[in-house]
Amino acid sequence: MEGVVLPEVEVNTYRKANPLLARVILNKPLVKKEDTEVCHIVLDADAMNYREGQSVGVIPPGVNEKGNPHAVRLYSIASLGSRTPGAEKLSLTVKRVVYQNDKGEVVRGVCSNYLCDLKEGDVVSLTGPAGRKFLLPVDEDIHRPYVFMATGTGIAPFRAFLQRLFRVVKDFREPVFLFMGVRYEDELLYDSEFRSYQKENFHYYTALSRQQKNPDGSRKYIHHVMAEKADELFPLLQNPRTLFYMCGLKGMESGFDYAIKAIAAQKGVDGEELLKSCQSRLESETY
Ligand SMILES: Cc1cc2nc3c(=O)[nH]c(=O)nc-3n(C[C@H](O)[C@H](O)[C@H](O)COP(=O)(O)OP(=O)(O)OC[C@H]3O[C@@H](n4cnc5c(N)ncnc54)[C@H](O)[C@@H]3O)c2cc1C
Repeated sequence: MEGVVLPEVEVNTYRKANPLLARVILNKPLVKKEDTEVCHIVLDADAMNYREGQSVGVIPPGVNEKGNPHAVRLYSIASLGSRTPGAEKLSLTVKRVVYQNDKGEVVRGVCSNYLCDLKEGDVVSLTGPAGRKFLLPVDEDIHRPYVFMATGTGIAPFRAFLQRLFRVVKDFREPVFLFMGVRYEDELLYDSEFRSYQKENFHYYTALSRQQKNPDGSRKYIHHVMAEKADELFPLLQNPRTLFYMCGLKGMESGFDYAIKAIAAQKGVDGEELLKSCQSRLESETY
């Protein structure tokens, strides 16, 4: 993101050889259905100096099939930076990974299942913080329009960003758009928290891919909702100060291109040119 002043952040203060031992304060389900579980996990990791937008590494106990210690898995931080007065402690939004492999066997993801099964008082080995780019600008440069795009647990860093903009920054008046995509309404994460921001400049839109359809009968994803909001978004796309952040499922990036081009077509401007400009202001973290 050219011309944006990002804060200096600490990275890798804690590594695999010297992890931070963090106690579990809370582990509660945000979604608990037969085929989907997402947990909100709060850890006491105040010793780590992290900012919202960064991630932490989790070292799952035990060894892999080769007998080596498990690899570190990264999780986005879903709470305010640890040096922010009054911040909730380090929070993670973890989806329990369970799937059937080619042989029809049920496979349980190592780290996500370890995390979702944690009990209050358990101790977790953390590395990090990780990431220098998926950050809001420094306070002096923070007053900008933002467009946040999330799918599933990709909402985690945006929960932290919104807390920063609406609870910490004084009198934040620029427009903020949040587009959140999940399959069903009961899978929306932190929905009531976002709805509690009764701000004229906050625009929260959801896309429910298995519940809502486009006029042509196809599933509705966030890029379709963005295209529907062309009138509201177009001025932001044209504004060189607007920043775009995307987090969630791999492959979301093509949805961004679709939305920008669809909006350009509705407004009769060159789609490639607008896309190039918006991409230069986009930070993306997909996994
Ligand atoms: C920067 C970053 C931030 C992240 N933030 C978060 C976050 O906030 N919340 C979160 O929950 N995760 C997050 N992740 C993903 C997380 O790091 C782990 O990858 C995830 O939890 C799975 O780890 P695991 O150990 O449970 O699964 P593993 O034991 O590593 O197994 C995962 C493997 O299973 C495969 N797999 C998964 N589902 C299926 C399926 N349906 N069919 C076939 N194969 C499948 C995957 O391809 C992968 O190879 C993030 C990743 C990155 C890189």
